[in-house]
Amino acid sequence: MGSSPTTIDPTQPVLVTGATGYVASWIVRYLLEDGYVVRGTVRDPDKSSGLEHLHALAAEHPGRLTLHRADLLTDGSYAEAMEGCELVIHTASPFLLGKVRDPQRQLVTPALDGTRNVLASVEATPSVKRVVLTSSVVAIHGDNADMAGRGPFDESDWNTTSSVDHQPYPYSKTVAERAAWEICERQDRWDLVTIHPGLVLGPALTTASKSGSMTTMKAFTDGSLLGGAPDLAMGMVDVRDVARAHILAGFTPEAHGRYITNARTITMLQIGKILRGAFGLTYPFPHNRIPKRVFKLVAPVAGYSREFVEKNVGWPLEFDNTRSRQELGLAYRDPASTVTEHFQQMIDDGIARTSPLRR
Ligand code: NAP
Repeated sequence: MGSSPTTIDPTQPVLVTGATGYVASWIVRYLLEDGYVVRGTVRDPDKSSGLEHLHALAAEHPGRLTLHRADLLTDGSYAEAMEGCELVIHTASPFLLGKVRDPQRQLVTPALDGTRNVLASVEATPSVKRVVLTSSVVAIHGDNADMAGRGPFDESDWNTTSSVDHQPYPYSKTVAERAAWEICERQDRWDLVTIHPGLVLGPALTTASKSGSMTTMKAFTDGSLLGGAPDLAMGMVDVRDVARAHILAGFTPEAHGRYITNARTITMLQIGKILRGAFGLTYPFPHNRIPKRVFKLVAPVAGYSREFVEKNVGWPLEFDNTRSRQELGLAYRDPASTVTEHFQQMIDDGIARTSPLRR
């Protein structure tokens, strides 16, 4: 892991993979607002919906955003867009929660082979000096039960408990990040900085994302939490802070290694309480805690295994975000405003449905 300072020429284009995504869209927007030239990769630059926000950003910043076709599963497809870039921000990777029919094909293969594919192009592109990879706190730990008998997780921790059958999304992020470090350590022309967000929430620039962040927030409006929510702690951070973290990681010469990017830990009930405080009883927010033994019985219907419930519900969870604050200078937004602004935007987009009792 190279730790000598890396200076990125701010006049050269920055490559952002998966530019359509919830997180990447904010990275692209901030890069443009900061004055950079951005190349965004998308799977289908010709598609008629899902790119509106990127076209609007391109129109607002003439000549500074171009979209390029690339797929994680198509070898060499990132090479053309990467040419001449010193900084590559690799965010593209599927984030699916709940029942995933074929986790190897839907999660692990695109994450792992996709990272290898992007880094093979980095290897072949002499201009690249730094890669910022979007990892996750789930590459730091697997189950909340991994907290047993220890203090907060930090950047020295690795997820050692996930597999393709148990916690496949955390597994996909872990193997992809491990592969990235292995590839980076074989050379010294470019360095790698990894960003580790908790669950990302906050206003989205697009309604097209299928990110687990969207599915999590939809649960507060589709009635699925009316019966209550389990005591499941998770990391949480604002999407705008995560975007800023990627840019700081890219342009801070001394940035190196892994950065936990998490504001606090929170449960669905705590999110519900914040939302009730802001929006009252109009929406089907959860009121009650579902006891662990009851949730265990119904969990498989909701796409969670009983093993997941056993090892995650009712356990505390803590992360140490000191490195991100001290070395990147990241300042975290108030989580209550993150949640409230996210939900307000769902109302504005017509996604939030009122409680059946109020219709
Ligand atoms: P998202 O909105 O679903 O974005 C995922 C992106 O990956 C999309 O741009 C998608 O492109 C792209 N992608 C998926 N499969 C691809 C493939 N085969 N080839 C090329 N591109 C592909 O999800 P997100 O929440 O923004 O996640 C972005 C990154 O942040 C991921 O690496 C995720 O693991 C990480 N992360 C997210 C969270 C969170 O809470 N959201 C937390 C920690 C880390 P298309 O538009 O073409 O589908």
